[in-house]
Amino acid sequence: MNKKQTIDLDFDREHIWHPYTSMTQPIPVYPVTHANHNLIHLETGEQLIDGMASWWSAIHGYNHPILNAAMVEQINSMSHIMFGGITHNSAVELCKKLVAITPESLTKVFLADSGSVSVEVAIKMALQYWLSQGISTKQKLMTPYKGYHGDTFAAMSVCDPVNSMHSLYNGFLPEHIFVPAPVSQFGSEFNQAEAQTLEQYFKAHHNQVAAFIIEPIVQNAGGMNFYHPDYLACVRKLCSEYNVLLICDEIATGFGRTGKLFAVEHADIEPDILCIGKALTGGTMTLSATLTSEKIATGISEGEAGVLMHGPTFMGNPLACAVACASIDLLLNQNWQQRISDINSQLQQLNKCRELDDVADVRTLGAIGVVELNDAAGSVDVAKIQAYFVEQGVWIRPFGKLIYLMPPYISDANSIKTLCDAIYNAIKDKHYR
Ligand code: PMP
Repeated sequence: MNKKQTIDLDFDREHIWHPYTSMTQPIPVYPVTHANHNLIHLETGEQLIDGMASWWSAIHGYNHPILNAAMVEQINSMSHIMFGGITHNSAVELCKKLVAITPESLTKVFLADSGSVSVEVAIKMALQYWLSQGISTKQKLMTPYKGYHGDTFAAMSVCDPVNSMHSLYNGFLPEHIFVPAPVSQFGSEFNQAEAQTLEQYFKAHHNQVAAFIIEPIVQNAGGMNFYHPDYLACVRKLCSEYNVLLICDEIATGFGRTGKLFAVEHADIEPDILCIGKALTGGTMTLSATLTSEKIATGISEGEAGVLMHGPTFMGNPLACAVACASIDLLLNQNWQQRISDINSQLQQLNKCRELDDVADVRTLGAIGVVELNDAAGSVDVAKIQAYFVEQGVWIRPFGKLIYLMPPYISDANSIKTLCDAIYNAIKDKHYR
């Protein structure tokens, strides 16, 4: 155990921007020396059970020997090379796997470096496809409220414009068409009125709309809304009927998190364009992909520009591709469905939070558990509740009134129990005030 303070927190506080933070009122940050399996080790000696999988990504936990070995092998041959005019085995093998495991019609892959960028690429694909068909009126996107697709400009333009983290930038963003967020919940009855409302929007706007973009089944940062698969099925049907492309953003939901390999499978649909990231490399390296069909790729390629105008420097990074191959094999070579179902059973312990006055709802889906606080809870002091969680030996990072778990799939029953108990006690004793 390393008790000597070597991470310069003063420098960090003074000079380093953390996600969604102020430079003058920085949030407390915890110095981490290493992470192993589902444990995060602090420099101060504490170890924390991880409930976040580093924001959906570290599905196999940390420091996994198989993933490490894949990276070491790749580093020893080539850690990076430009992708312009060059190809390599790790990209080719990864794309073979992606074509094999994603919905059948998706056969063309663009490899980028973050989730947000894969959304930018998806939007460009959609706009460029219609231009290639000689249709220049389709320049808008349609998307439900409560969505979240990333922090870059096109991605921000399709995030929820009202409650969004990005409303400050609204004046700079193109205006798109927002439809009501899905209301019928996963596991309950689907209200057909939602389908009728969606159809009205398609009828009114389809001539202007290039694509409908949606997070399948789980609206993530927009409220952890687990919605009914029929909403998605209905969107798919309307997109086909009204000549609108469907972009599904599986950056958070992909690779088993919801109990299906990809969440679109809950609705038995295929998108025209699919975005993946986060767990693609088992949370080890930054990599994303945008997949599309033969039809869209051919349209773009035979259109006026003839090329897809995107090419990030680190596109197809060999190291990230190699570890993504290893991560996908590791996932598929185990009974991951059983793992997710076991975690889901253990997450049911969150239901005891229902007895607490400040709790509005508890919901789980696959390896995701959410406790939503109500207005009585007041505004949540994230730093305070975070400090309590660290004291309890768990790493859980609430978002607004949502306290949620998306643990690594390797988490054992005791770890999940400790995470669920910490959430219950934090709410019971109101550690967020
Ligand atoms: N889409 C969804 C659904 C996400 O959850 C995220 C990340 N929270 C993104 C896009 C953006 O991905 P990244 O942070 O890798 O840019």
